[in-house]
Amino acid sequence: MSKTTTWTAETIAVGSELLLGGRLDTNSLFIAERLAACGIELRYKTTVGDDLSDMVAVLKTALRRARVVILTGGLGPTIDDLTREAVAKATGHRLSRRKAALEGMIARLAEWGRTPTTTQFRQAMIPARAEILSNPVGTAPGFSLVWKGTFLTALPGVPREMEPMVRDGVLPQLRAWMRTQKRLSASPMIRRVLHTSGVPESVVDQALVGLVPKGCTIQLGIYASPMEVMVSLTGPAGAQGGVTIEQLLKEAKARLGDIVYGEEDDTMESVVGRLLNEQKLTLAVAESCTGGLIGHRLTQVPGSSAYVDRVAVTYSNRAKVEMLGVPSGVIQQFGAVSADVAAAMARGIRERSGASVGVSVTGIAGPGGATESKPVGLVYVGLDGGQGEAMTKEFRFHGGDRAVIKQRSSQAALDLLRRWLIKKGC
Ligand code: ATP
Repeated sequence: MSKTTTWTAETIAVGSELLLGGRLDTNSLFIAERLAACGIELRYKTTVGDDLSDMVAVLKTALRRARVVILTGGLGPTIDDLTREAVAKATGHRLSRRKAALEGMIARLAEWGRTPTTTQFRQAMIPARAEILSNPVGTAPGFSLVWKGTFLTALPGVPREMEPMVRDGVLPQLRAWMRTQKRLSASPMIRRVLHTSGVPESVVDQALVGLVPKGCTIQLGIYASPMEVMVSLTGPAGAQGGVTIEQLLKEAKARLGDIVYGEEDDTMESVVGRLLNEQKLTLAVAESCTGGLIGHRLTQVPGSSAYVDRVAVTYSNRAKVEMLGVPSGVIQQFGAVSADVAAAMARGIRERSGASVGVSVTGIAGPGGATESKPVGLVYVGLDGGQGEAMTKEFRFHGGDRAVIKQRSSQAALDLLRRWLIKKGC
């Protein structure tokens, strides 16, 4: 097979545990996204067990058919960590103990009050001519090298070690190397992403019909997941068939309107956080069926303590009455899953906390708990901003299990808040 002349990549996830069914290769998802943002097309994902000859075989295949090869896993100190040996065999570069790798490892262990064990010295064995990638979290360094025109990098398997190494080590190196490879592609590929919320894939698809003119090589992608529909535009930088990606992005945003909540790496919670911060508002949340998921998402955003005041999980009726002051008569009259209770929850958490705005969710996540008039997936979201600014919204989420309904409910609540904040800020 001949090497293609565009930027193509392959990931190789190393580890027998990934083949046994108990663990998922999530590293390649992260890497795929990052590569796409650099205009590199991931063409193959391979998973291979901890067997040296199998590893060498898949590595040789990958080196033949891709311009960028990213290995994760198998860099630890144990006898079954064979990635270093496999790279050495596949490329013909011998392994040697490298001072920088050793010193980095010793320094990291010293921070933890430890010294390297004999087996850990293996981690400093790096193929000749490879550049060492320091590991800011763990002890095993990564490395990268260029072999016969292909960029190859090997990283630890642990996601929280691998991710910062990709972001801060591999991608800058890769971009710099790509700039030296001009003969391959006159203009590098770029990819822009929009995130939409609150409408199904078919609506996004309909709105974008005819966006990309005939004969233009820019690719439109529409991808649905439980919480959103993502739109991507991928193609070479510069005008293609008379239009650029930036022009198409602007047109897509105009067509989609306020269902677009963010771009690129934005998440709903980071967008909401930004809006709360800009308007110097604080937030209190009362959750029922989402069981704390909204609070979890909000507090995943660094700096969220500036605007998240509190999150209460009020699952039982008693909790809604005791912690939020929801009148028990309202629960009896309308049921816990009702617009009236959602309104009372949002008002209660706002008043009791003194936060600028209160948000609430109550619903039926299933599989039990449904009645004829209240099916699984019926969810009410409430928002109370004080001074008579209050609203509720009903959602009916179909075709999802409990986890999906919880995710969609949390997204719906945050989206209602986002829209309210945008209006308030105008
Ligand atoms: P260690 O120093 O822990 O041995 P390593 O680089 O050798 O690191 P592995 O031993 O292959 O990595 O994997 C360590 C752990 O990282 C695995 O048990 C698994 O939890 C996680 N892991 C490995 N590969 C992947 C992957 N592709 N996707 C998600 N998690 C992974």
